[in-house]
Amino acid sequence: MTDYKLPNLPTTVVGSLPRPEAMREALKLKRKARISEQVFQQIADDSVRAAVQLQERAGIDVISDGEMRRENFYSFLADCVDGIKLLSLADLLDYVEDKAAFERLLQSLDVPAFAIHNPVVEGKIKVKKPLALDEFNYVRGLTNKPIKVALPGPYLLTRSMWVKSLSYDTYPTKESLGADVVAMLRDELISLRDAGCFFVQFDEPVLSEVAFAGPHATHTFMCAAFSEKASPEQELEFAVELINQVVQGVDGVKTGLHVCRGNWSRDDSVLLAGAYDPLIPYFSKMKVNQLVLEFATDRAGPVESLLKLPEEKEIGLGVMNPRTSELETPEFVKTKVAPLLAKRAPNSIFLNPDCGFGTFSDRPVNDWETAERKLSALSVAAKSLR
Ligand SMILES: [Zn+2]
Repeated sequence: MTDYKLPNLPTTVVGSLPRPEAMREALKLKRKARISEQVFQQIADDSVRAAVQLQERAGIDVISDGEMRRENFYSFLADCVDGIKLLSLADLLDYVEDKAAFERLLQSLDVPAFAIHNPVVEGKIKVKKPLALDEFNYVRGLTNKPIKVALPGPYLLTRSMWVKSLSYDTYPTKESLGADVVAMLRDELISLRDAGCFFVQFDEPVLSEVAFAGPHATHTFMCAAFSEKASPEQELEFAVELINQVVQGVDGVKTGLHVCRGNWSRDDSVLLAGAYDPLIPYFSKMKVNQLVLEFATDRAGPVESLLKLPEEKEIGLGVMNPRTSELETPEFVKTKVAPLLAKRAPNSIFLNPDCGFGTFSDRPVNDWETAERKLSALSVAAKSLR
């Protein structure tokens, strides 16, 4: 790993930024196969350059490519892997067991069923092009700063892509799919490490739902396909097993796990609430270096919960809400980080927004200007704390 000299309380992003208008248009045309690869990549390159410049202007220490090329944080896999097809949530309705309940759920959660695409496994998965290495190599050429790349987590992928009526012939169980998902993510992690990537973050937003909602409660839309879900304890053990198989023994790159409570609506009342406490024992067993968690939102409970984590675990502390217009003050950030600073080394605490600014390209939770103002406020707060 390149030895970057990071300041105490390094600042970073969770991953996505709002896509510029031209990028959103290009993503839509790509989905309909109505844009050439060359034109798409040109627009994407321009957008990534703008995303890098935004983060550099804002003074962010560890930057991303803004996930410009991705329609959302996990569907892009369908372009890279044979055996995965993309279904809109509306298509997915054909395959879920209780259609009426699923439709009511989508409406109550403020999710546009037609707009969000879900990857589903319908054959043996086989990587045809790297998941994120090309993205990394492009952004590598634009900046000297250390780079973070986000990948969808192995539990999210295994659970959301396995739809019994489509996947059963190739993968009779979720465990059998899990083994192939693990191999795919581990290969990508090693490729990114070998290419000089500083930080690879695995996104597992659904773990909060698993912990809070219980086996038979209403699912958030990302778990729409979840069927035959075991007890929360068994599911969380499965998640630990999968992530550990991905990262175990891979040195020379920082690994992280991001868990939030959903980031698709600015209406906080439709998003999950609950402290991280039920997840802490599982986080403690995960062999990732850092947990990237949201704390700007009150829905996440108190920061003190994190003091139960083993001391060697770094924290990526969410101190900016990506879904609001108001800027968090240095005083707010100081209050959030204080309980951790009292007990942990300041170079083991990273500061970041709670989640991406554009988890779903069609539904960014903020605009470009606000994202820049928030990231600038983050770095001002970090500097004043240092
Ligand atoms: Zn998130």
